[in-house]
Amino acid sequence: MSEVETVVKKPRKSSKDYPRCVFVLDKHKKPLMPCSSPRARKLLESGRAVVHCLYPFVIRLKDRLLKDSELQPIGLGIDPGSKETGIGLYRIVHQSNSQLSLNYHQVRYVLWMATIVHRPMISKRLKTRANYRKVRRQKLRYRPPRFNNRARPKGWLPPSIQSKLDNIVNLVKKIIKYVPVTLINVEAVKFDTRSKLAKELDKAKESIITESLVDISAKSVMKTLISRYGKHCVYCGKKNCHLEIDHIVPRSKGGTDRLSNLTLACRECNQSKDNKSLKTFLVGNVNKTKILSTIRSFYEMPTKDASQVQAYKTKLVETLETLGPEVHSGFGQQTKLTRLANHLPKDHCVDAVCVKDYTDPKLDIKVVMKTTKYLVIKAMGRGKYQRATFDAKGNKTGHRKRQKFAFGYQTGDIVKGYTTKGPNKGWHVGRITIDHDGQFDIKVKDQKKFGVSNRNIKLVQRSDGYQYYFKDIGEAA
Ligand SMILES: [Zn+2]
Repeated sequence: MSEVETVVKKPRKSSKDYPRCVFVLDKHKKPLMPCSSPRARKLLESGRAVVHCLYPFVIRLKDRLLKDSELQPIGLGIDPGSKETGIGLYRIVHQSNSQLSLNYHQVRYVLWMATIVHRPMISKRLKTRANYRKVRRQKLRYRPPRFNNRARPKGWLPPSIQSKLDNIVNLVKKIIKYVPVTLINVEAVKFDTRSKLAKELDKAKESIITESLVDISAKSVMKTLISRYGKHCVYCGKKNCHLEIDHIVPRSKGGTDRLSNLTLACRECNQSKDNKSLKTFLVGNVNKTKILSTIRSFYEMPTKDASQVQAYKTKLVETLETLGPEVHSGFGQQTKLTRLANHLPKDHCVDAVCVKDYTDPKLDIKVVMKTTKYLVIKAMGRGKYQRATFDAKGNKTGHRKRQKFAFGYQTGDIVKGYTTKGPNKGWHVGRITIDHDGQFDIKVKDQKKFGVSNRNIKLVQRSDGYQYYFKDIGEAA
């Protein structure tokens, strides 16, 4: 009786700690306007709604129909990248500017943001798998060679790129089921295409000064080149003269307008270089080694997959167009300008809400962002096909079980679990890795895995090949 128990009250999380938007469905699972998380809590507590899905969080109203509800335009922005893809949802409100300006405003109220983390090393994984198969089949009786009878279907993409595309399309399909999206903006226009630079040079000739897309591109090309090579001719070092953009590998010899193939030269050097290769042009030049090393430090060999990346973005736009909402393409430089104009931090998901239609340069975008949380959606795969396990030297160390389930759980399931001892003692929500002895591993966010028993866990959501957790904008990956 003498012992005084002190009750420590857990500090209640403020609404800022949660992403502000919850997706809402009607009685027949048709998407309605998303609501705020405090409102969702009230609806759930009063029994008017039930939880439909946890990642992303979706509730279903039991007493409402789509035809009794009012919808507002909602945009979906996508910023596809090689490692991560940003996704953002926003409510669109149009505003006309003051009558003096020709520009008009669009206000975007950010509702929800996510980042898809794509699967790395796809091609390496496939090569390993192919090698295992090769070894297996070498042990069989003689078979005639079968290698020359493969055909790639039309629109084939390398598996590494196809996987990224599938990640994005799958998520967009899912979002469309939960949110009444009216418009999709994808950042899908390449930065330094030949046509862009050609247009820009034409514009310069006409000397028309407009704040259009083309000018933005021309200015940024010149700016980048000056920051790389300095404000002087690369070949003779002349200063205070009119500098021209010179192609290191001439166009007539297959050189492109990629930034790394461009440099700055005075008119005389540019004209005398003409369509000669760099080495021929520099024969007899005293500063040959110095010039070559300067240029080589910025020049990159043309990447083999540059055309593949563009093929991927083109195919992404084509696929998204079949989904229903109108699809617009954006331009990377404009996205950056919009982001800077709104004083927003750099992040994939922030870029996604800043993507705008590149054919509409007069549109000013104001982004209103109240949340700093976004959902990380990490592609994890659905387990291995290879049954044998190997050590680093390639020696066989064991064999995986055929069964993917143990004690009713599967690797990838999201569970709420209690750890009874050790430094991680307490409740956790995370993704599990099963073991047939019943001692599972749980991974919370991107922290290290730790053990949890199958008896102390409760299923939250079944595995769908992805891991989910929340992160703050600007938080280190
Ligand atoms: Zn020169």
